[in-house]
Amino acid sequence: MTAADLPLPLPDLIERLGAIVGPADVLTEPFDVEPHLVELRGLYHGATPAVVRPKTTAEVAAVMALAHEFGIRVVPQGGNTGLVGGQTPSEAGDEIVLSLKRLDRIREVDPVTDTMTVEAGVTLLGAQEAAEAVDRLFPLSLAAEGSCTIGGNLATNAGGTQVIAYGNARDLVLGLEVVLADGRVLNGLGKLRKDNTGYDLKHLFMGSEGTLGIITAAVLKLWPRPRSQSTAFVAVGSPAAAVALLGRAKRAFGPALTGFEFMPRFGLDLVVAHLPGARDPIADRHPWYVLIEVSSASEAGVEEAFEAMLGEAMEAGEVDDAVIAGSLDQRAALWRIREGMSEVQGIEGGSIKHDVSVPIASVPEVIEEGIRVAEAFIPGIRPVPFGHLGDGNIHFNFSQPVGADKAEYLAKWDELNDRVHAVVLAHGGSVSAEHGIGRLKKHALAEVKDPVALATMRAIKATLDPKGILNPGKVL
Ligand code: FAD
Ligand code: ZN
Repeated sequence: MTAADLPLPLPDLIERLGAIVGPADVLTEPFDVEPHLVELRGLYHGATPAVVRPKTTAEVAAVMALAHEFGIRVVPQGGNTGLVGGQTPSEAGDEIVLSLKRLDRIREVDPVTDTMTVEAGVTLLGAQEAAEAVDRLFPLSLAAEGSCTIGGNLATNAGGTQVIAYGNARDLVLGLEVVLADGRVLNGLGKLRKDNTGYDLKHLFMGSEGTLGIITAAVLKLWPRPRSQSTAFVAVGSPAAAVALLGRAKRAFGPALTGFEFMPRFGLDLVVAHLPGARDPIADRHPWYVLIEVSSASEAGVEEAFEAMLGEAMEAGEVDDAVIAGSLDQRAALWRIREGMSEVQGIEGGSIKHDVSVPIASVPEVIEEGIRVAEAFIPGIRPVPFGHLGDGNIHFNFSQPVGADKAEYLAKWDELNDRVHAVVLAHGGSVSAEHGIGRLKKHALAEVKDPVALATMRAIKATLDPKGILNPGKVL
């Protein structure tokens, strides 16, 4: 099927969509449409007859009812920051893009119940700020927060840097409003912390990457805002030492341990070389580093206990050196190193990526074996395993060998993925820890998922989207 044989003649489709959202919010000019067709990694470049931009849940429902009636395929899109191509329409030009960005109201903030009800197009930063305005915390935190949306965060069950303390995106939600494939509105915007009245349907839609329904609003949980934070950049001798330090920090601080991010020397070298203003926080060179943060609800903080814990870790040989942030600026500089880690790999040439998780105890072995298979496959390859060690989630990236041809290197993406994923699977891990499946990992899912789980997923998809119009070709 191409744009030429859409289920409705193009002018009719444009007119009907315009009647729902207003003609100005049905984008068809190449200049307006183009930003919705490409994603950040440059892996996909789709085509579409129209980008439709509803402003209300009722408009989303009307668009879906129309799509269902005629069998029009729909690709939901939020901030377009997804990393697996889930938000990009196919190259055939036979899918409309449903942009949720204009659903951007904060409907309610309830500091007594500690909830806020926000629409899908509110940016993550906007949600964080709305919480801050009532002296609360919405703890989801990731580098794309200025542009990604709550709808996209929930549709991908995003992770980020504070999962260790607060959980993934799905753990931060009490209620969900969803427009189903046929245009019916499932109103689940409850604020209840306890509600065992049958199946908890909201969890079907979170993490479904737009294949089961359109998330239009959510009731999010709020937390007390930390009054102080202790942050350190710590040099460790090995991934095993980092895992030992993680155990020590968890035992010392429990849920107050809000960050435990891991990175290799080569990653730090890239940040220092490519990120303006970045510098090495520790004078000597060490093979591995951890950014560790503890948050406290009291102004006085936990500085002493934090220093004591690091001191004990040093005595135990887990930590070789450490720098504790002495000011908010220093803290920000340490986090900038971690958050710049993805971007600088792009400047360094081709980067082949893996977003994997394994049981925390297996992290050292998986890093060692993963590097070994990659080096055997591509001599001179430069490993950059970094990320959310506290969750067993490693962004196991590899930069191209010095002087290699970028295109030739990137052509080996799938083959390297297969090798690294084999190591991960042998340790009971996952080939997509937090970014999802989208288009990028669809073939991998079919290979690694339990067949009964896959069949159950297909049955759910067929029930909720019998005509297969919601984000076709993604996930399943
Ligand atoms: P999009 O990219 O627009 O869409 C993502 C998926 O959700 C698509 O399948 C789309 O169809 C679907 N979708 C979007 N909105 C809706 C909706 N309202 N209803 C139904 N389906 C919808 N992810 C992490 O988990 N942890 C990280 O630490 C992290 N860091 C990142 C850092 C950077 C710099 C970047 C660019 C991305 C990062 N990501 C991370 C990827 C992450 O998935 C996205 O940033 C974010 O969650 C997606 O939100 P979005 O609004 O941009 O969604
Ligand atoms: Zn991440």
